[in-house]
Amino acid sequence: MGPDDVSETEENIDDGGEIRDFVRDQIRDDLAAGLHSGIVTRFPPEPNGYLHIGHAKSICLNFGVAAEFSGRCNLRFDDTNPTKEEQEFIDAIQADLRWLGFSWGETEFFASDYFDQLYAWAEHLIETGNAYIDDLSAEEIREYRGTLTEPGRPSPYRDRPVDESLALFRAMKAGEFPNGARVLRAKIDMASGNINLRDPVIYRILHEPHPRTGDAWCIYPTYDFAHGQSDAIEGVTHSICTLEFADHRPLYDWLIESLPVPARPRQYEFARLALTHTVLSKRRLTQLVAEGHVNGWDDPRMPTLSGLRRRGVPAAAVRDFISRLAISKSQGTVEMAMLDHSVRELLNRTAERRMAVLNPLKVVIENYPEGEHEELQAVNNPENEADGTRMVPFGRELWIERDDFMEDPPKKFFRLGPGREVRLRWAYFITCTDVIKDASGEVVELRCTYDPATKGGTAPDGRKVKGTMHWVSAKHAVESEVRIYDHLFTRPDPGADGDFLDDINSESLNTLRDAKLEPSLTEFPVGQAVQFERLGYFATDPDSTPDRPVFNRTMALRDTWAKVKAKG
Ligand code: ATP
Ligand code: MG
Repeated sequence: MGPDDVSETEENIDDGGEIRDFVRDQIRDDLAAGLHSGIVTRFPPEPNGYLHIGHAKSICLNFGVAAEFSGRCNLRFDDTNPTKEEQEFIDAIQADLRWLGFSWGETEFFASDYFDQLYAWAEHLIETGNAYIDDLSAEEIREYRGTLTEPGRPSPYRDRPVDESLALFRAMKAGEFPNGARVLRAKIDMASGNINLRDPVIYRILHEPHPRTGDAWCIYPTYDFAHGQSDAIEGVTHSICTLEFADHRPLYDWLIESLPVPARPRQYEFARLALTHTVLSKRRLTQLVAEGHVNGWDDPRMPTLSGLRRRGVPAAAVRDFISRLAISKSQGTVEMAMLDHSVRELLNRTAERRMAVLNPLKVVIENYPEGEHEELQAVNNPENEADGTRMVPFGRELWIERDDFMEDPPKKFFRLGPGREVRLRWAYFITCTDVIKDASGEVVELRCTYDPATKGGTAPDGRKVKGTMHWVSAKHAVESEVRIYDHLFTRPDPGADGDFLDDINSESLNTLRDAKLEPSLTEFPVGQAVQFERLGYFATDPDSTPDRPVFNRTMALRDTWAKVKAKG
């Protein structure tokens, strides 16, 4: 993590309570100079995959500045490549944006809505001598383009007469040529130090139906030709994108200057979000899904917004995390633990507490009357009194966590052992009197006694116990599956040393099929996080059935980030 890349929110806020970064400073300057009457931004996803947490940075920035400066942020689907784009992705992007808490009202656009206008502008470029039809193959174009150290060579078709290019372009549009036969190139500068200006391709032939325009087109504009012109059509004032487009800015400006567009948008670039222990490249995320390394785009191990949601991460925690990131021009990598920190901080305040046993061990309370049970009061959230209390059933047979018992406990182990007394949360003190094992010597049951005078968890004689444990009444327990997640990749920088797939963590999913829940846990809606006492935050998975809930562990309780911060 580079020190420039991350700073606490407070440091980005000036005395007047305004957020400070180079984008917002630019906007303030532009407004002060009277360049614009209002601010218009856009979030421009290509519908060829699901949104991930990196997109959230762009979303919060574009929608955030629009709100702060009383402007508007458009949602624009950049749908110029029908080979990879699908309606499923359009729907998912809309749903994820709404979940993240943003709305765009009427201003939802598609680059494909502008195909007629873009085509007309392409003809304009040809007519003004600024574009030509090239017959070279893709391979040859690459060869002619040169390298960072060598200038490019002009295509033999570069000086083709305007009329001929125009006729060929119209024939391309009419479907007279196969894919790849010809392209339209802007005529700029084959010797430019910036390769993007060496006569970039702006239209290509693609005999491919489009999710929105169907069979109307068999030629499609490239990203570079569509993007700036779409910005201009929409009256975008500040076209904010990530650093890899900085080298495209001269082309963006050249096209805006060369065309009779209705507005003059400007492009600004900021550092994209990179996170440890995951990948945020759509190509790689697509590969993980397509090859079955994960269970779909919303697999809770994925850094997608739908994955985070399914895992139980609240949208507010994502927004909080993003607000702590600096908007800067220096690329760095952010610790995943920083996202975890935002999640824990929010869930500690908001998630109700419940009891669940993940690896059960049976306890029989020998002096508790057989066939009877009682309801004990438990506090739902010590951080928020308004969450109230609930009743938890207690009886003679209980489940406790296997790890909470040791037959031969070391000094610092304060939980249950032979002859030891502990507190059961919200219930009683119990003492272990006997340990029952199976033929292989494994502990299968504990025999205990309880002290009826300690109801609620305190002893009238003032005696203390060191350990407090969670438990679930065996008779009332709800059987459940609980999925425990770890990082999807074993190293912080997947792929740094070869194929990123080789760095997949084979133990990133651990399914516990014998978990026991207190009954009230069946009442939680899908996706809502709850704290299992002493274990972490969990959320119901959509795979749940009425008689068998499935829970995902959102996050363990331990906050490594808080420790890192304390040390640092
Ligand atoms: P990838 O480069 O992984 O294929 P993309 O940039 O092509 O992703 P788009 O759908 O084109 O994905 O992205 C929409 C917007 O989100 C763009 O403006 C892009 O700059 C921005 N964006 C994408 N990834 C990140 C990221 N990691 N951090 C910040 N912004 C991002
Ligand atoms: Mg992109």
